[in-house]
Amino acid sequence: MLKIERYSVSPLKTNCYLIIDDKTQKFAIIDPGGWSEKLDRRVYEMGYEKLVYIILTHGHFDHIKLAKELQEKSKAKIVIFKNENEFLSNSNLNLSSQFLCKDLKPFSADVLLSDGESIYLGDSKIELMHTPGHTLGSSCFISENLIFSGDTIMKETVGRTDLVTGSYLDMKNSLKKIASLKGDYIIYPGHGEITTLNHEKVYNKYINNI
Ligand SMILES: [Zn+2]
Repeated sequence: MLKIERYSVSPLKTNCYLIIDDKTQKFAIIDPGGWSEKLDRRVYEMGYEKLVYIILTHGHFDHIKLAKELQEKSKAKIVIFKNENEFLSNSNLNLSSQFLCKDLKPFSADVLLSDGESIYLGDSKIELMHTPGHTLGSSCFISENLIFSGDTIMKETVGRTDLVTGSYLDMKNSLKKIASLKGDYIIYPGHGEITTLNHEKVYNKYINNI
């Protein structure tokens, strides 16, 4: 079983998630876009040696900013969709140049996943679903009935598709792919409130129009 904690980080209020394996207390961090005092205290309390994965839903600066620092402190592996890796070292792709986020040093991921590939946190399988649209390599990470959706789906809306490598057509196809999942899921988005797939199928106009 995974336990989920949400922290609001970075000036853009990115949701950074701590996902903790009940049994082993090993944990992963999804989208560390910046520090918050609360998150800092919590990671210290959990222990850096228990941090095994830093998972990135996509390569924008407000989702990746602390990844390298966390990796160096912990030796955790950075995980991202294979074609999104170049965002981590390109300030025009990750938008750090545009948003004057000059202290973001280029880095590279350790684990590059393709669509449908998985990692394990304790006994819990975490599978990557490639969902381009917000960026070409944007992905959702799915475990049991949980979806970490990054900037693909947010509560009753979707991520921008007008940024570099974004595409509205890709977004539509990705939403179709997510909507075709069987059963209900809790959706943990990159910004805003937590929601569910059933709620989005009814109230998200981008999904109920496809
Ligand atoms: Zn983004």
